[in-house]
Amino acid sequence: MEIKKFGVIGAGQMGNGIAQVAAASGMQVLMSDIKEAFVEKGKASIAKNLSRSVEKGKLEAAERDAILARIQTTTDLQDMASVDFAVEAAVEREDLKFAIFRDLDVICPAHVILSTNTSSIPIGRIAAQTGRPDKVIGMHFMNPVPVMKLVEVIRGLATSQETFETTWALCLKFAKTPAEANDFPGFIANRILMPMINEAIFCLYQSVGKAEDIDTVMRLGMNHPMGPLALADLIGLDTCLAIMETLYDGFKDSKYRPCPLLRKYVEAGWLGRKTGRGFYTY
Ligand code: NAD
Repeated sequence: MEIKKFGVIGAGQMGNGIAQVAAASGMQVLMSDIKEAFVEKGKASIAKNLSRSVEKGKLEAAERDAILARIQTTTDLQDMASVDFAVEAAVEREDLKFAIFRDLDVICPAHVILSTNTSSIPIGRIAAQTGRPDKVIGMHFMNPVPVMKLVEVIRGLATSQETFETTWALCLKFAKTPAEANDFPGFIANRILMPMINEAIFCLYQSVGKAEDIDTVMRLGMNHPMGPLALADLIGLDTCLAIMETLYDGFKDSKYRPCPLLRKYVEAGWLGRKTGRGFYTY
C-alpha cells in the first residue's frame, strides 16, 4: 500500500526532525504531542532549520514553504486514524511508549505499521502491547535527523518481512541509509555508543580529566567529530541515563552500570542542551 500520510508521535528534537525529513520527501505529515505549546515549538524548530538552509542557498524559499505546508499538527492522538504509517518519538520511558502503542493499536487501521524511534527499549516488548506485533518495528533515526544519514531498522521477533521491507523503502525515500539490527537492548548503535559515553562520564567522575580534556582526547585522538560529553549533552542526559538503565536491566551485567554522576545530573534537571546545562553550559 502506498504511504501518503506519515504520522509522528512526539514533537521533540527527534520527532520534529523526522517530521521534517518525511515532509521534505513529499509526504503529508501529521505530528502530535501532548500540549499545543510542544507541537508549536516542534514546528517552529522545523521552520528555523529550513530557513537556515534557505539562507545558505541550499533550499528555495518556495520549497521551504511547501515542506512546512505539508506538516499538520495535533494534540489529539485520535487524529492518527488518518495516517498510513506511524513513528513514535515520545520520551524514552517504557510505560509511556507502551500506553501510546496500546492506543495507536486501537486508533490506527489494522494495516498501518507502527514503528518506534526508541533508542533502546526492546521492540518485542513494545510489539506485545499491540494486536499487530508483525507490524511493529524499530525505526531509529540519529540526531540531528535532517543531517545524519543513518536509520537503524530493528526487527522484533514477530516483525514480518513485509513490514521490514516497507520500512526499509521508506528510509530510502527519506534519502537515508538504513542498517539492519536485531532486537537486543540498545540494538547496535547504543550498545556501542552509550557505554563509551558512560565511560567518559566515569572519567569525569573519577577526575581522570576535565570535560574539555576528555572531549579533546576523543575528538583529536580518535577522530570523533564530537567529544562524548558534548554528544551526551546533545542527546539529552535523561535519554542517556534511560538507555544505560535499559542496557543494565536487559543484560544484568555490571559493565552497563550507569555512572552515578550521570544520575546526579539528571536528578538536578541538568539534561544538556535542551535545558541549557549539562556537562557544558549553553
Ligand atoms: P524530547 O524530550 O526532545 O522529546 C520528546 C517529546 O515527547 C516531548 O515533546 C514530549 O512532550 C513528547 N511526549 C511525551 N509524552 C507523549 C505522549 N504521550 N504522546 C506524544 N508525545 C509525548 O526527546 P527526543 O530526544 O526527541 O527523544 C524522543 C525519542 O527518540 C526517545 O525514545 C529517544 O530515546 C529517541 N532518540 C533520541 C535521540 C537523541 O539523540 N536525543 C536519538 C535517537 C533516538
